[in-house]
Amino acid sequence: MPGHGLVLVVEDERSIADLLKMYLTREGFGVHIAADGPEALAAVRAHRPVAIILDVGLPTLAGTEVCRRLRADDDWTPVLFCTARDDEIDKVLGLELGADDYITKPFSPREVVARLKAVLRRSRGVVTSEEMAVGDVAIDLATHRCTVAGTEIALTATEFDLLAYLMSKPGRVFTREQLLSEVWGYSSVVTTRTVDVHIAQLRSKLGEPDLIRTVRGVGYAIELPAADVSATAADGAAEVEDTGTGTEV
Ligand code: CA
Repeated sequence: MPGHGLVLVVEDERSIADLLKMYLTREGFGVHIAADGPEALAAVRAHRPVAIILDVGLPTLAGTEVCRRLRADDDWTPVLFCTARDDEIDKVLGLELGADDYITKPFSPREVVARLKAVLRRSRGVVTSEEMAVGDVAIDLATHRCTVAGTEIALTATEFDLLAYLMSKPGRVFTREQLLSEVWGYSSVVTTRTVDVHIAQLRSKLGEPDLIRTVRGVGYAIELPAADVSATAADGAAEVEDTGTGTEV
């Protein structure tokens, strides 16, 4: 029996699906292939996969709609989207979909497997009893719960890990490359807007005041709202020019 769990591959192009199945099987995953959206939704209910590789361009029901329906059903199975079009990326990583990552076609099956493993690593998380809080935002690493001013908010596994990582060292500026390496588990620098898009989603979910500071040209940091630490930047602007050289990076 495959040791890493069952992956649902949702792909209408049989040759691509078979190629992914071959690579995933070789890596120890079980694979179930669904060729369209309705079949995918049924397969998720029937087989409870550990993750879904979801093509956006599907007949009858788009991949984004499949994901939307799963999330509406409170199903947070990690989703790695495959898209053939750059202009779909924002939609794919959109706030309401709760996708964990995307990969653009044409892709190498090896890269898909690497991304999938990273998604699974993140979704499994680290079990400790540690709780952290910055300002109104509190997270519990053991339960993967996040509250803002006492109200629980729903974060995807990736958003949670990104927030936890930033909150682990308040004030420290992390580069996108560091975040990709530490949170996403990528060993090489990849060209992706994943970090920026997930930061934007976190900001949107956490609301005001904005705890995440953008250090232009460097990266991101978690900090107490400006009003709590100084009188400057009281407008809560998302972009703060760092006049230093990012010494903590
Ligand atoms: Ca397709």
